[in-house]
Amino acid sequence: MHGTYAAACEDAVVVDGAAEASDPRAAFRESVLDAGLLLDAGVDGLYLRSDTFERVAIGVDRVIAAAGADLQPTVVHFPLVMARAPFERSGYLRSFPDLVGVVEVFRGDDATHAQLLERLDAGRPWADLLEQSDIVLCSAACHPLYPHCSGTLPPGGRRFEVYGSCFRNEPSIDLARMQAFRQHEFVAIGSPTFTKSHRDEWVERGLGVLASLGIEAEPVVANDPFFGRAGRLLAASQRVEVLKYELVYTIVQGSAPTALVSANCHLDHFGAPFGIETDDGAIAHSACVGFGTERIVLALLATHGLDTDKWSDAVRTRLGL
Ligand code: ZN
Repeated sequence: MHGTYAAACEDAVVVDGAAEASDPRAAFRESVLDAGLLLDAGVDGLYLRSDTFERVAIGVDRVIAAAGADLQPTVVHFPLVMARAPFERSGYLRSFPDLVGVVEVFRGDDATHAQLLERLDAGRPWADLLEQSDIVLCSAACHPLYPHCSGTLPPGGRRFEVYGSCFRNEPSIDLARMQAFRQHEFVAIGSPTFTKSHRDEWVERGLGVLASLGIEAEPVVANDPFFGRAGRLLAASQRVEVLKYELVYTIVQGSAPTALVSANCHLDHFGAPFGIETDDGAIAHSACVGFGTERIVLALLATHGLDTDKWSDAVRTRLGL
């Protein structure tokens, strides 16, 4: 199965086309920006966060962490970027080339620098004067974890809680589809039974986390947005095998539901390329459940109103506001 499924943490909602003035998502974005909760960064899908938005996000993270504390995961915090070599081995580029972002750097001499400045001043493209670096942007929060787990797992496998940032090249007027965002994940690595039960259990825990914040989400079988013609087969097969659930919620009335949480079985997609084995010598499976931090904050704002001071005491207390 290795090389077939790339690794989840995607969501199934179709990428939107051109913005339309009548689109309710555009109106929602306008209202959130007008309220000063997010600040326009000049590109669709990229926003600066207000302190109010961030306080809610911290509260959401706290509620999510509490929901998994009894599992005693190893907690790790990852940066927005990761090494290129393991990224290439992860298979992501094969299945989602359109979503990827890489870091390019300048390694030229004075003459190349002069050329770069000339183009910059003339408003012409200059990026081809840069070179590929050994770093890429993370596409999913859990990706840096698997190379770290190469070798033999302890009996029973391992659980991790991952705080990470992600980039995806999908500019949109939909605030729920940011290009830079955070994921808070719970990852299991071990036997097929252990990882599948982790995934299934977290569908229920995820619904509970959201319901405790007044968000009644719905679990649906989903597929990743695999690229191209071959991707359609992968997506169909992923659905048949029920490898992915999403907990979806309508943030903006009149628009498609948004995945707030995605719960994914990767099979041996990461275990095989990164040489992760169970204690009995089998290739390890993995599963991850990712909470979309910004999306949950947006769902809270849409549900309880843009003035967080007016949210119910129950929700405010739960978030530590
Ligand atoms: Zn993940």
